[in-house]
Amino acid sequence: MTPILELKHIDYSYHTPDGETKALSDISFCLTKGEFVSVVGPSGCGKSTLLSLIDGLMKPDKGTLLLNGSPLTENSDRIGYMLQHDHLFEWRSIYRNVLLGAEISRKLTPETKRRAKEMLEQYGLKQFARSRPSELSGGMRQRAALIRTLLLEPELLLLDEPFSALDYQTRLTVSDDIGQIIRRSGKTALLVTHDLSEAVSLADRVVILTRRPASVARILPISFDLEEDTPLARRNAPEFKTYFNEIWKELNRDEPTGPERTK
Ligand code: ADP
Repeated sequence: MTPILELKHIDYSYHTPDGETKALSDISFCLTKGEFVSVVGPSGCGKSTLLSLIDGLMKPDKGTLLLNGSPLTENSDRIGYMLQHDHLFEWRSIYRNVLLGAEISRKLTPETKRRAKEMLEQYGLKQFARSRPSELSGGMRQRAALIRTLLLEPELLLLDEPFSALDYQTRLTVSDDIGQIIRRSGKTALLVTHDLSEAVSLADRVVILTRRPASVARILPISFDLEEDTPLARRNAPEFKTYFNEIWKELNRDEPTGPERTK
């Protein structure tokens, strides 16, 4: 089966008047259809750089990035995003916010509108369709933002620290909620996060990066023996701590002096 996203031997350096900063070194990994992969790594190692390359905003110095077997630059519109801020516009109703992406990419058809209404209903936002974003909780806003993204039927979802603006309690429930919606939609997703618990609770595999220049230290497959495999259920499962500790150990391999923030 062709992977949805394939990164092969990616190198990237920044060039400034002060010299060269090598950010990524020989990064290779891939995502198969329907897979959820988290990327974690120390602060400043190159995670955002990696996302910019996948997004097509920058080109690698070496290596190839393929989406469905074709160079990424040719089809970066097949990528959907979920970011830290939901970027909903207060001057638009939730329904019209959800349609915004389709409107911008000239895909606003009666069928898109029908699907938007269907998704609002499916994800419990039907009664807020005419509300303004400020009338919704942080979690509901993130749902609306996700519906806006899913409506464009992206091949790949990029999630860049999507829950980090939320307080801890909200974060747990929203990541559970969003994680389950993504699973049900069958989308392939790549999450970049500094939150190791979040990475383990959501992913099928965790890509652990080294310090800058980032290379792949390890790819850890994650599986839980749960009847209902949800992010919240994972957090309470006995395997959770083991995975967390494995990743922590890997990130601090050359850091015997104690805990360090990962972003
Ligand atoms: P992370 O997202 O993991 O915190 P980044 O990808 O933002 O890391 O950055 C990786 C390294 O590249 C850092 O050392 C950072 O200082 C450097 N870097 C990032 N952006 C630029 C830039 N525009 N010019 C020069 N160096 C940069």
